[in-house]
Amino acid sequence: MKALIIGCGIGGPVTAMALREVGIDVEIFEAYGQGAEDVGSFLNVASNGLAALRVLGAHRKILSRAIPTPRMVMWSGTGKRLGEVANGLRLDDGTVSHTVLRSDLYRTIRDEAAQHDIKITYGKRLVSYDESGRRVTARFEDGTEATGDLLIACDGVHSRTRAILDPGAPAPRYSGLYSLGGIVRDTGMPGEPGVYNMVFGKRAFFGYTVAESGETWWFANLPRRLGDVPEDWKPVLVRAFEDDANSSAELVRRSDVHPGAPIYDLPPLPIWHRGRVLLTGDAAHATSPSSGQGASLAIEDAVVLARCLRDSGSHTEAFARFEAERRPRVERVVAYSRTISNNKAAGPVARVFRDLMLPFFLKKSASQESLAWMYRYQASL
Ligand SMILES: Cc1cc2nc3c(=O)[nH]c(=O)nc-3n(C[C@H](O)[C@H](O)[C@H](O)COP(=O)(O)OP(=O)(O)OC[C@H]3O[C@@H](n4cnc5c(N)ncnc54)[C@H](O)[C@@H]3O)c2cc1C
Repeated sequence: MKALIIGCGIGGPVTAMALREVGIDVEIFEAYGQGAEDVGSFLNVASNGLAALRVLGAHRKILSRAIPTPRMVMWSGTGKRLGEVANGLRLDDGTVSHTVLRSDLYRTIRDEAAQHDIKITYGKRLVSYDESGRRVTARFEDGTEATGDLLIACDGVHSRTRAILDPGAPAPRYSGLYSLGGIVRDTGMPGEPGVYNMVFGKRAFFGYTVAESGETWWFANLPRRLGDVPEDWKPVLVRAFEDDANSSAELVRRSDVHPGAPIYDLPPLPIWHRGRVLLTGDAAHATSPSSGQGASLAIEDAVVLARCLRDSGSHTEAFARFEAERRPRVERVVAYSRTISNNKAAGPVARVFRDLMLPFFLKKSASQESLAWMYRYQASL
């Protein structure tokens, strides 16, 4: 059996490795002409995502390039410490959630796939596909095509595969927030290693963590009209944070600000698969980044899909099992993440209410058990 994997982001190479592990031939087709070595800021790979990567023996190299971040401390824009929550759980071998540059995560996973002799072809943007008999044929923008037994979509939140599979599928929802980030060297800032500081500022949300090297990695979520992109984000961000009682504005001033990107998630999709084609990762269930789970869910999908294909009598049965197992979990994460994002985009009145309620909410979530449903999930092969 051969699977065509569309998209070489985070989910694509992991899916390829997982399917190869259960004896399925794979080939990855990526729209861009080259790898995404320099794309993106950084992201949280939660303990559940690392647990899934561990199944494929692919987590160690990522840890060596990442910052352990097992805790989150929440602050108000007035400088008040609101509370603390665990960022993931400790795995049985001691592994905790880590923060990693997206480019490092991508490069490590892609190289791992290449070491498994998995063919990745760049410059192959899927424009259409069709099924005939027992085969599916993917057609690319450059006029070429490829044929296999299955087509697995790992083509992200704006998935072309999804648009073909179900033209009536709901469109991605803009969260009302732009995401930006930066890295500052040697800030000399007091920062506890291992802690993600999250600041619900007056006008925008700010998160940062201080690495043992002294570098500070930060991101901002800025409420903004979609498409309202300034020539230079830095002064806009400095203005957004200058009335907060912490160092957000100063950190932004000292940084090269990574370009801003609008944050989307996906409403629940009515259809995840049809015939020989299946949606996975962000293509099926993009979550806003507030839960820090998007990459981890895509990685879990890969492992679960491989098991379903191995243990089922047909791809139809495998896809149905995959959906039944994954849908309740991922939809719960998307909904949870959306609630947090809405708090970040709160207007002036909602903000007052939020700042009053947050300490109670955090107290409730302070116990490791309250978010255990999200973190204590072991994707198994
Ligand atoms: C600002 C921001 C911050 C985030 N922070 C976190 C975080 O802290 N933790 C976390 O877990 N997740 C985070 N995420 C989410 C995470 O990046 C995604 O959930 C994850 O990358 C999903 O993997 P994927 O493989 O499904 O899609 P992607 O990684 O987006 O990969 C899709 C790939 O498909 C390719 N492609 C697209 N269309 C086509 C086509 N027609 N033909 C061929 N190829 C195509 C793309 O070029 C891309 O390489 C964040 C996302 C954003 C935007």
